[in-house]
Amino acid sequence: MEPRRTLYEGKAKIVYETDDPGLLIQHFKDSATAFDGQKQGIIANKGVYNCAISSVIFQLLEKIGIATHFVEQLSERDMLIKRLEIIPVEVIVRNIIAGSLSQRTGREEGEPLPFPILEHYLKSDPLGDPMINEWHIRAFGWASDEEMRFINETAFRINEILVPYFEERDVILADYKLEFGRHPEGVLLGDEISPDGCRLWDKATGEKLDKDRFRRDLGRLEESYEEVWRRVCQA
Ligand code: UDP
Repeated sequence: MEPRRTLYEGKAKIVYETDDPGLLIQHFKDSATAFDGQKQGIIANKGVYNCAISSVIFQLLEKIGIATHFVEQLSERDMLIKRLEIIPVEVIVRNIIAGSLSQRTGREEGEPLPFPILEHYLKSDPLGDPMINEWHIRAFGWASDEEMRFINETAFRINEILVPYFEERDVILADYKLEFGRHPEGVLLGDEISPDGCRLWDKATGEKLDKDRFRRDLGRLEESYEEVWRRVCQA
């Protein structure tokens, strides 16, 4: 399957059309951005690590019965995916207080939540992905009630799989972002699951192994992505 026209170029990925109108190629780049694109940089080999990590996790989820857009990994940086109509609602799953939740509530980063929680954000670069709730989603028609019920249930099912999966690899999955899209087969999990969109902390030391190292200038960027890749893909 060869890449044809560029359908979309984002901060960390390029999506190409293929000769099959139902299939796209998701290409993973090394570029990283944070704070609505105000901070930009390169993390060497990030694309290779994220493509491999995402491929392993999508296959794990598929095996357990979660439908995703993943078809196959084509090369180091390229993943064949099903074309989705992306639902413009980003779902954040949180197990431990961190990032914007810590700022909004004044609670310490690292405090476990009594149970996993979900948040919803509008996927809109010009608006800076504002937080929204299910009333907004319903009133603006971003997703149907039935789709949201399915998405929320699926997000919790994914969490039940991923928390122990990372735990077995001595990684704490503090929080992460999911995106879903419409497909003739139903609503499928899309995008990627990688250290770009997850907070992953080493269980023994608490060391951050994710994009927060870039956001917060903590250094050892490539090493951290490589470490997650090693624990997920080489274990
Ligand atoms: N996240 C993401 N894309 C976004 C916003 C958040 O992948 O546009 C991920 C982020 O990496 C973290 C989780 O979602 O794992 C929760 O992020 P948070 O709301 O704390 O925002 P942040 O602190 O990243 O601004």
